[in-house]
Amino acid sequence: MAMFLSTSPVVYPLHFLPNSDPPYHLLQSQPSLSLLSKCKNIETLKQIHSQIIKTGLHNTQFALSKLIEFCAIDSSGDLSYAVSIFDTIEEPNTLVWNTVIRGQCLSSSLINALELYVGMISSEVVPNSYTFPSILKCCAKSGSTHEGKQIHGHVLKLGLDSDAFVHTSLINMYAQNGKLDCARQVFDKSPHRDPVSYTTLITGYASRGYLEDARKLFGEIPVKDVVSWNAMIAGYLQRSQFDQSVSFFEEMLRERVMPNESTMLSVLSACAQSGNLELGKWVRDWIEENGFGAKLRLVNALIDMYAKCDDLVTARSLFEGLPQKDLISWNVMIGGYTHGSFYKEALCLFREMLELRVVPNDVTFLNVLPACAQLGALDYGKWIHAYINRSFNSLTNTALLTSLINMYAKCGDVEAAKQVFDSMKTRSPASWNALICGLAMHGDATHSLDLFSRMVHEGFRPDDITFVGILSACTQAGLVDLGQSYFNAMIQDYKISPKVHHYGCMIDLLGRAGLFDEAEALMSTMPMEPDGAIWGSLLAACKLHKKVEMAEKFANHLFKLEPSNPGPYVLLSNIYAGANRWDDVARVRTRLNDLGMKKVPGCTSIEINSIVHEFLVGDKLHPQSKAIYEMSDEVDRLLTLHGHVPDTSEVLYDMDEDLKEGALSHHSERLAIAYGLISTKPGTTIRIVKNLRVCGNCHSATKLISKIFNREIIARDRNRFHHFKEGQCSCMDRW
Ligand code: ZN
Ligand code: ZN
Repeated sequence: MAMFLSTSPVVYPLHFLPNSDPPYHLLQSQPSLSLLSKCKNIETLKQIHSQIIKTGLHNTQFALSKLIEFCAIDSSGDLSYAVSIFDTIEEPNTLVWNTVIRGQCLSSSLINALELYVGMISSEVVPNSYTFPSILKCCAKSGSTHEGKQIHGHVLKLGLDSDAFVHTSLINMYAQNGKLDCARQVFDKSPHRDPVSYTTLITGYASRGYLEDARKLFGEIPVKDVVSWNAMIAGYLQRSQFDQSVSFFEEMLRERVMPNESTMLSVLSACAQSGNLELGKWVRDWIEENGFGAKLRLVNALIDMYAKCDDLVTARSLFEGLPQKDLISWNVMIGGYTHGSFYKEALCLFREMLELRVVPNDVTFLNVLPACAQLGALDYGKWIHAYINRSFNSLTNTALLTSLINMYAKCGDVEAAKQVFDSMKTRSPASWNALICGLAMHGDATHSLDLFSRMVHEGFRPDDITFVGILSACTQAGLVDLGQSYFNAMIQDYKISPKVHHYGCMIDLLGRAGLFDEAEALMSTMPMEPDGAIWGSLLAACKLHKKVEMAEKFANHLFKLEPSNPGPYVLLSNIYAGANRWDDVARVRTRLNDLGMKKVPGCTSIEINSIVHEFLVGDKLHPQSKAIYEMSDEVDRLLTLHGHVPDTSEVLYDMDEDLKEGALSHHSERLAIAYGLISTKPGTTIRIVKNLRVCGNCHSATKLISKIFNREIIARDRNRFHHFKEGQCSCMDRW
């Protein structure tokens, strides 16, 4: 304050009336006003304002317009203060009106801006070419085409449509509101087209997916600037036409137009989404050579690109090399791990992020929750749910809630999934799908189908994913007729053409029911080739129904389709074993050995105290290995005591475990269960996740374990959930 008082006040005589400001040069040199240019915050401005009042300058519109400009336009300003100054001016001039209107537009308040605009006209101040661009921009931002059209009428009346700035603003307003025909008309009527109006219309076309129109107009621009190139590159990117996007970029380079940061962001995104690592690497070199290497946004895009192209090592080293990481850096790295199925790494990095007190956002959770779901890390998922509840006052993000439903369902806690679903105020089709598929996975066909009826009743349109859920619910429960009728309804009532997945569910359903003729008839109607999963499900059905000859036929298809998959060989040899055809067993076995195929090892994980432990068959790597094996022996002893007879037909040829002979009680799921038994309190539910199908012997053993130890055991295998309780399994031995 003292600073202002020390300046000698220049008192202007009061005969300066509004709109008759003193000469400009006198005002410009006025000390209070020159201070305005250095003003940084609203407090200082208020001091300057009172100084202006003291010196009598407040009677000049120029001084007041300067004050209003700071308050209304500057990011550290205060729009309401601007309005209060404005209200003291008796007859504001055009400059003052324009400034305050611009302020309202910047704060996205179209109604307030229009109110002022009407006030301006009714006080007979004529709008000029500076009045319209801000209002039109505001119409564009708020999607107000109707108001925009009226403003357009005024522009024409005032003859301002030939002003380049107003002209481009009109095109932009229409284009952003999706009225591309109107935008085009404005563009066509203009006698002189500047490059900006071309670019504006091209951006409009490209961002709305009218790529042909964009491309045509692009060809007509006399001088193409970087913005118009970027519009084309981004337009094709948005429509997932990555090759086109990239070829525009290459052409841009050939024409020697220097790309900028947003060009590179688009190109990297195209590389990430199309898996074009080669171009991605080239872009990285370009970024470094052209001195953009320190731009955080670009490095984040590079990390994302490397991660999506499955080069997680380079992605991580770029991430580690960042002197300062922002939230996006963490999100792309965590998302990269989840995308590449490195779920444990994703969770580890998330933990590290929290330890460093980086506050996650909804994108982070959307990247972490699928990792919990895949690992079956229920405690971790629950903890994240609680964290989300703490950090958001009210959880309304539909995508996030849907992700929680999915996590709970995949981690075996259907009740929690239902609770989240019930708590949702607005649901998306994806939320319905998550619970319908979740219930189906758990073999709860009744509730899954009920939910489907509710979904339709509430006016949601089922999509192809909904029907995958519905059909697999029918498959798990063996509901042949119902499955048929849903399959027909999908095609006839919902006009969804079945994908290979839907056929797969139906053929699986028919095969398990022993309806092989029907299954083959349906197969012959498929417009696409049956995939390995379909032949595999038929092969499994043959095992169930002991159809040896048919199995040979299906297996031959599989051998051709998936020559390096040992699964069908193992399954076929088990089918021979079941029929006591030991010569054939030996023959298949020899062929398998000759082919030297390695199968995916069975792996079971269990989460204890938020830490995920993984077990392989015969695994001795766990620190508590000794105790685990002791428990496993005890389980074996009790199983024998309760009359459990191991199913020896699958001992040597078990398709889901290592081909080497391993004691049945040392299968990965058995080790995980033994660990669960020694590390949780009696009565606690044990949850395990297996990467492959549970083998027949482990399945019958686990049923008995649930009874002997009085434990509920929830096992997720590759296909579905098994809820073992009191000696029974929810799958009714159909899996
Ligand atoms: Zn097993
Ligand atoms: Zn089961």
